[in-house]
Amino acid sequence: MTQIGTAIIGAGLAGLACATALRESGQSTVVFDKSRGVGGRLSTRRAEGDLRFDHGAQFVTARTHGFAALLRESEAAGQAAAWKDSGDAERIVGVPGMNAIAKHMATGLDIRLGVTVTAVERAPIGWRIDTDRGTWTCERLVVAVPAPQAKVLLAEEKPLVQEIAAVRMAPCLALMATFEEDVPVPFCTRRDPQDDLDWIALNSSKPGRDGAQTWVAHAAPDWSRKNLEETPEEIAALMLPMLCDRLGIHPTSARHVAAHRWRFARVTTALGAPFLRDGSGKLYAGGDWCLGARAENAWESGDAIARDILGLA
Ligand SMILES: Cc1cc2nc3c(=O)[nH]c(=O)nc-3n(C[C@H](O)[C@H](O)[C@H](O)COP(=O)(O)OP(=O)(O)OC[C@H]3O[C@@H](n4cnc5c(N)ncnc54)[C@H](O)[C@@H]3O)c2cc1C
Repeated sequence: MTQIGTAIIGAGLAGLACATALRESGQSTVVFDKSRGVGGRLSTRRAEGDLRFDHGAQFVTARTHGFAALLRESEAAGQAAAWKDSGDAERIVGVPGMNAIAKHMATGLDIRLGVTVTAVERAPIGWRIDTDRGTWTCERLVVAVPAPQAKVLLAEEKPLVQEIAAVRMAPCLALMATFEEDVPVPFCTRRDPQDDLDWIALNSSKPGRDGAQTWVAHAAPDWSRKNLEETPEEIAALMLPMLCDRLGIHPTSARHVAAHRWRFARVTTALGAPFLRDGSGKLYAGGDWCLGARAENAWESGDAIARDILGLA
């Protein structure tokens, strides 16, 4: 069993923001994530022929100085840029994929990828963390996963679980598609809350994406809920004709089609505080669900946890 200072579960923006601030203050920190890469919902799917699709968060915006500074740093490193074609210069995207912003943050951090935390339990000093790759102990634990998953991991921590129970998150089904030939482009982005496809983006219009046209579409929450348990293949088969209809083209011209199920995609009711902490100060929970539906909210939550741990709050 290996003893660590602060263990963070989740290498999304919240976990990475927390780890970055702790590392800057010299604290020993290890981040665990079940995925093969960092970024969580700030994610990029690669497909045959070097195709890349941002199937989660589409762009980020900054309202706080701290997050704006991070984006400026990422831009200076060539890992982020303004998405001017979207018609809104405030929209910043990772380059060459959304996950580049997370990769930039992850530089120099101790991150264990492909490790699923199965249970956490109070130990004589701190916490015991059971994973599918072994057991660790840590003095302090930060749980930075979506609220419904935090509730499961922290099932024994009744007061925290009660507070998390108020949070609501909506699902989102995502379609990724490319066509035999480039299609006439009616728009680079289209948001329509009344449509079953409430977001469509010409992914390849983002800066730093060369090659074939790639499209990403997101289904609205109600439609996503209704079709959530279909297989990815069935979801793709249902969503492709919807996308083609909005683009005015025929579905048979599709070359690559895939779907992704985001079970906990966007926060609809947030906690209303930057994080949760138990009485001992040895357990924190955070993520976008504390403050809102935007990626910046996740960053704010993780950064606020670190500041609290460091006594800077
Ligand atoms: C379809 C979609 C579109 C979006 N569009 C936008 C947008 O345009 N603009 C915007 O600002 N925001 C958008 N968002 C929201 C944004 O992506 C999130 O707010 C933000 O990325 C959340 O970060 P987080 O760190 O809180 O959580 P996450 O990114 O979910 O990170 C949590 C991490 O925890 C890991 N994890 C979970 N359970 C375990 C476990 N048991 N063991 C180990 N690891 C575990 C996961 O693998 C994941 O990497 C969108 C989200 C989705 C899904």
